[in-house]
Order: sequence, then structure tokens, then C-alpha cells
Amino acid sequence: MRTCVSIIEPSLAAALSAAKRAKDQGADLVEVRFDMMSSPPSDLRGFDDIGIEMIATLRPALQGGGYTGNEQTRRAFLRMAAEHGFGLIDLEDGSVLLREARKVFPRSRIIASHHDYESTPPSREIVATLTRESEWADVAKAAYKVNTVTDLLVLAEAAKSLSATKGSHVIVGMGAAGEITRVCADRLGSEFSYACLEKGKEAAPGQLDLATMMRLGRGGGTITGVVGGSLRHSRSAAMHNAAFEALGLPGRYFKFETRKDELNKLKPIALAYGLRGFNVTIPYKEEIMPLLDSLDAVAERVKAVNTVVVEDGMLRGTNTDAFGVEKTIELAGVEVRGKKALLIGAGGAARACASALKGIGADVTITNRTAGKAKRLAEELGGEAVPLRDAPKGEYDIVINCTPLGMVGFPDEMPIAPEVFREGQFVMDVVYNPPRTKFLAEAEKKGAVTRNGEDMLVFQAAKAFELWTGGWPPTDVMKEALRGSLT
Ligand code: NAP
Repeated sequence: MRTCVSIIEPSLAAALSAAKRAKDQGADLVEVRFDMMSSPPSDLRGFDDIGIEMIATLRPALQGGGYTGNEQTRRAFLRMAAEHGFGLIDLEDGSVLLREARKVFPRSRIIASHHDYESTPPSREIVATLTRESEWADVAKAAYKVNTVTDLLVLAEAAKSLSATKGSHVIVGMGAAGEITRVCADRLGSEFSYACLEKGKEAAPGQLDLATMMRLGRGGGTITGVVGGSLRHSRSAAMHNAAFEALGLPGRYFKFETRKDELNKLKPIALAYGLRGFNVTIPYKEEIMPLLDSLDAVAERVKAVNTVVVEDGMLRGTNTDAFGVEKTIELAGVEVRGKKALLIGAGGAARACASALKGIGADVTITNRTAGKAKRLAEELGGEAVPLRDAPKGEYDIVINCTPLGMVGFPDEMPIAPEVFREGQFVMDVVYNPPRTKFLAEAEKKGAVTRNGEDMLVFQAAKAFELWTGGWPPTDVMKEALRGSLT
């Protein structure tokens, strides 16, 4: 994949300096957005010897650019650009100038550009647009706002249809949800991918900086991500991307916010974009299971999948949450074998905790707001269930909150009466934001050893990273990135 840096500097001198830096930092092409300057410059001599391919763009305001002058001046300026080393001229789909371009710019390659800043249309419409553009241009370009994972599949389908044609094209998915289309531009058959020189200088939403694109290299490296209902609060991308960067490994972690009716599109998306795997989070850890090709023994035991590995075109589900719990216990130096543990909650986190504790030899008791669910989980695990009001009367060595109570956005309430705590107990909260919940504060008051859900989160991520890359990540870097993302 070739990388084109879009330059949006306000002055000619700044644009020239940015073009030189882009070249020095490895860009294959630069696009100078002359419409971002107060007026088109009258002299372009400095660009003659930049040494890489250059695109001149003077996009009219009506087409989403910043140029407000007339067509005659625009035509004259772009001809001057063509004479000063700009071998590619970008013109808008449907414009009169595009139709005349081969005559007006006989020695330049023409890029025809189509932008939809709102949505992604059906793939046949994308194919029709790019086919129409290629009648007038050497490179047919279309950029669409990606709003859903379905849009990612639509773009991949359009690219597949176009792969049979000879023409050159660039397909871009704009916005944060479309970032993967920039990194995996090769998979969409794009001639090049647009990037910005540095963060904060994006010419379009979702553009990555050149240094990141260079690190990812051709094909984007190890492509991973997280699938969930609402991912605004997910910290996984911060942790995984920090690990990729720290190791200097080409790889990127994306957020795939997915509606329930889109879950069956994940496999074709994973295959089209070459995903190595993905995490699964609330509310799909169970719903994803029937859609996978296989489950490993841990996923079968926990009855929830938080990690998928793509192997030979197959989606294999596993669960690394239980590993996160085991590591939390190990790092706290707690002896679990033969000890009595109380879990509050009967959802996915409780299943992971129960599986980990049973695996290390603890006796597990479950209590939950909905008693029936606690009973079912206990029966399945060979443990006990106890009503929430009776649970504090029990004697437990380990107590773990597996409900979201206390987490940012949820009531800061105790999931159980504080009488359950006593000195020397090990008390864990799966919640990590905030780091100290009322639950942990009350346990500390009684002299318990406490841990929040931070280690669980970091180590479930580390295990997934290892499954995808074959290498163990720097967990201190991941933890730092997690903490940084919470402030
Ligand atoms: P889940 O499957 O939806 O289960 C939620 C559990 O919490 C259920 O037992 C539910 O009881 C109970 N609950 C929810 N709201 C409650 C309330 N207001 N009062 C009392 N009980 C309530 O969710 P999950 O996947 O287990 O996640 C639970 C928490 O664990 C979340 O905060 C999640 O972020 C956290 N988590 C942390 C990690 C980590 O790595 N640190 C990993 C996974 C999950 P009912 O059965 O009565 O509905």
C-alpha cells in the first residue's frame, strides 16, 4: 500500500516544508490542498524538486473544499500546478473540468473524487460511481462516511466487484469507524491510502498520521479489535495499540460497534479485512457463540467468549477473562485452594471468576439479585447458591463483586451488605473505573486485602494479544495506557 500525505497548511511556505518532511518520513505521495490556503498561490517553483509524486487539489466550497473563486482561475491554477511537478490533479466527480481534464491537463494523471460525508450507499451504487469516474479519470476515488460495521462490508463488497476491472481506484471509509479502510487499503484494492503528516492535521475524519501508517506498513500488520454494543467507554484500543507501539510491531486494534442484527456480518468482515482476531464485549459474549466455527475448552467451560482468533478462514472462540482473574489472584499472592469464595452476580464476569476459582481449587458460592440465575450458575458449576440477604452471614475467605454496581455510569451502591467483610479476607471488584469503589472501601475498613478489576482487564487483554501475535505484550505499558485513558 502506498501512503499519500494530505497537506492542509494555510501558507505556501508551510505546505512546502510539510511536503519535504512527508517525503523524508517515507510518504510515497503528497496531496497539497491548495483550497485550504486563503487564496491559490501565484508561484509554485519550490515544488519542482520535491522528489515524490504530488497531487494538486483545489476543491470548491460547494464540494466540501475551501475554494470560493471562479472556475477560470481554478483551471489556470491547476494548469500551473501541472507544470510544476504535480503529476496528479484531483477533480470532483460530475464537474465540467473533470470531463475536459484530459485535454486541459494532457500530461497529468487525473483523480476523480466523490465524497459522501453522511453515509455509505449500497455497493452497486459505489461500483457505478467509480466506474463512471474511470471514464474521465486515471484514478477513480470515492470516500464515504462509515456509520456501521455493515458499511465496512459494503465497501469490501464494492472493492471485490471492482477487482475484476482494470482501472485504478481508491476507496475510503471516513470517520472513526472507517479507520480500518485506510489501514487495509490494499485489501480494498486501493492504489494508495491518505494519511496526515501528524495528529491534529487530518484533512478528513479518520485519517491516521504518517508515522502510524509507516509502522503498520503494507497490509496493516496484525489487525484486531473489539466488537460490542456501545464502545464509547471501552479502554481496550488504548491498551492494545500502546502494546503494538511499544513493541514496534505492525498492528492495530479497532472498535467495531455492532448492532445485534449485524453480528452475522462479522465473519465476512473479518475475512475481507484480514482480521487476526477480535475481542467481544457487552452484550455479545454469549450471543456470539453460535456464530463461531469452534469454541475451545475454556469458552465451553465459561459459556462466554471474549476473544476470537481467526485461523484458516475460521473463527475460533475462547475466553481470556478467566485468565485475567487467575493473574489478579496470583499477583495478590492469595492462596485459593480449598478456600471459600463468594461471588456476587451471575453474568459473564461471574462465570469467568467462577471458572478461574474452581480451576484453582476454591469452593464457590454464588449470590445474585435474580436468585434463579445464581441457582442455575451454581448448579452448572457444582457450587452453591445463596439468597442475597443471607449471604453476609456466611464466612468467606474470598469475596468478589461481579456486578457493574459502583462503576462509572452505574449507581455507587453496595452490591451486598458490608457485614460480609472481615479482616484478612481477599476482596476483589471486577470494576476498575473508578479504581476504588464503595465496595472496596468498605472491605478495606474491615482490614481485607483488596484488588480492583484493573489486573483482570490488563491480563485478559495481554492473553488475547498473545493469541493473536504469538508474543507476550508489555503489561506495564498496557496498564499505563489504561490509566491514561481513564483520566
Ligand atoms: P452481565 O452479564 O450483564 O451481568 C451483570 C450481573 O450484575 C448480573 O448478575 C446482574 O444481576 C447484576 N446486576 C446488574 N445490575 C445490577 C444492579 N443494579 N443491582 C444488582 N445487581 C446488578 O455483565 P458482566 O459481563 O458480568 O459484567 C459485569 C461487570 O463486570 C461490568 O461492570 C463489567 O464492566 C465488568 N467486567 C470487568 C472485567 C475486567 O476485566 N475487569 C471483565 C468483564 C466484565 P441480574 O442477574 O439480576 O440482572
